[in-house]
Amino acid sequence: MAVMVETHPTLGDVQRALGSDGTYLGGGTLVMREVNAGALQGRILRTTDPALRQIRSSFDTAEIGAGVTMAMILAERDLAHLHPVARAVGGPQVRVMATVGGNLFAAHPYGDFAVALLALGARVVSVGGAQRPIDDFLRERDRAGLVATVQVPRPREPRAFAFLKVSRVKPKGVSVLSIAAHLPRDAGRLRGVRIAFGAMGTTPIRAPAAERVLEGATPDLGVLARAAAAAVEGLDPPTDALASAWYRREVAGVHLRRLLERML
Ligand SMILES: Cc1cc2nc3c(=O)[nH]c(=O)nc-3n(C[C@H](O)[C@H](O)[C@H](O)COP(=O)(O)OP(=O)(O)OC[C@H]3O[C@@H](n4cnc5c(N)ncnc54)[C@H](O)[C@@H]3O)c2cc1C
Repeated sequence: MAVMVETHPTLGDVQRALGSDGTYLGGGTLVMREVNAGALQGRILRTTDPALRQIRSSFDTAEIGAGVTMAMILAERDLAHLHPVARAVGGPQVRVMATVGGNLFAAHPYGDFAVALLALGARVVSVGGAQRPIDDFLRERDRAGLVATVQVPRPREPRAFAFLKVSRVKPKGVSVLSIAAHLPRDAGRLRGVRIAFGAMGTTPIRAPAAERVLEGATPDLGVLARAAAAAVEGLDPPTDALASAWYRREVAGVHLRRLLERML
């Protein structure tokens, strides 16, 4: 069976035309790889909708179109806190095509940008306007439908957000694991802590035990060490060609502690 590409003016039109046999094409870094390998055939649908490539920034939120690429994030001064994350996705050729929307759906061990969105508590907006917290979206993403934008809360101060990717081949290897942490402070205490891991589960996943240690605490080296010690509690990391589950469990806390110490 051949591949047929359809181009539609809006994402809504794609949604209506998708049916059960169509595949949506974002930047295509993963879809086209499957097509080239002969693993994906049939109808491929794309859109030229300019709304998908818009970034709107306000004081406390950035609204990022699903078709915005990693290179576009890197060109946006207002999104400086997300630059280390976008820079961690593949090499330059991948970054000019890889989209934010596609990253939300990228299977293990990909999805580094989604890890940052999870730590920041983003909301995912579907075509048609329905929105849900990214935690819910990631649990249901197999039946999530098309994503139009993500609304990303902006950290109140630069040190409140940090990202780290651990890979074997630098600078553009795939994640052994990635970590994003959002540690907002209120009168010296941590409030609304969110820590997310990539490549430690089938989708980006939060580290609830570490978050519990940090929430409400006054951050010091002792608290950070206790949070790091709890990093993998309740998590079930996979084994793949990059690392075993055992290795991921062993090193996750070490890397989390290093990341948190950068944020003190
Ligand atoms: C060489 C190479 C290196 C890579 N390195 C990394 C890396 O370091 N880190 C990383 O995170 N990823 C990496 N990737 C994976 C990939 O490039 C990124 O995850 C990228 O963000 C995926 O976006 P895309 O637009 O290319 O997705 P596509 O290939 O277009 O789509 C991927 C999936 O998402 C779905 N999709 C896309 N957009 C939407 C939408 N708006 N709504 C609903 N469904 C949608 C598609 O239907 C498809 O199922 C790499 C890929 C390659 C080929």
